[in-house]
Amino acid sequence: MRVTLLGTGTSQGIPVIACKCDVCRSDDSKDKRLRSAIMIEEGATRIVVDVGPDFRQQMLRHEVDNLNAILLTHEHADHIFGLDDIRSFNWLQKSPMDVYCEERVQKNLKSIFKYVFDVNKYPGTPQMDLIDLENKEFSIGPVNIIPIRVYHHRLPVYGFRFGRFAYLTDFNMIEDQEIDKLIGVETLVICALRKAPHISHLNLLGALELIEKIAPRKAFLTHMSHEMGKHRDLIKDLPSNVEPGYDGLVLEI
Ligand SMILES: [Zn+2]
Ligand SMILES: [Zn+2]
Ligand SMILES: [Zn+2]
Repeated sequence: MRVTLLGTGTSQGIPVIACKCDVCRSDDSKDKRLRSAIMIEEGATRIVVDVGPDFRQQMLRHEVDNLNAILLTHEHADHIFGLDDIRSFNWLQKSPMDVYCEERVQKNLKSIFKYVFDVNKYPGTPQMDLIDLENKEFSIGPVNIIPIRVYHHRLPVYGFRFGRFAYLTDFNMIEDQEIDKLIGVETLVICALRKAPHISHLNLLGALELIEKIAPRKAFLTHMSHEMGKHRDLIKDLPSNVEPGYDGLVLEI
């Protein structure tokens, strides 16, 4: 299985519009972070987790010409606002896109993207089939998926385990029984917003503590804010099995 980090930035991305900080002005490509998303590839099956406002750019950058399904962690703008751009795949594949998400997220999609779900749709509107996501194991083609329930302040969000790999973003609370489902994960991608505490996101210390509990062979940080500092400085502060993720990083699992 191959995992590509399509984006590793928080909701504003890096650079932040009009910000003149060192991180936003850095010329290191690893300090340029699109909104967080990953792509999973196994044989001919390709799945994207989260479709933020940078989805179009992410699909172009990686020359993606086929997509089997989308998984959504939750309904925040930085995770769904690229959904209108699934149209290219609708036309190419001549089919609606399978979008897996929980009931609350489906309800939000129907109100945010009202035109997609209208009875009399405007021609050329995106086509998606919403598929119920519950806290139980399922498969898409050869890819086995175990949802992991986490909490984003009080908002329930799903992370996902795919065999020896897991992706957890946008949360700062996870119950012990959900941590148990991550035993044996060898590669973990986990959110860490910044060094200072935050009401709904793990900060660096919180992410490192959870990494220690899950004990993967290797962990990569994602959903980072410009307040986290530059990639090259951050990497020096981390334990040997933890690295800041960066856009375009490919992990062979
Ligand atoms: Zn987010
Ligand atoms: Zn900045
Ligand atoms: Zn969020």
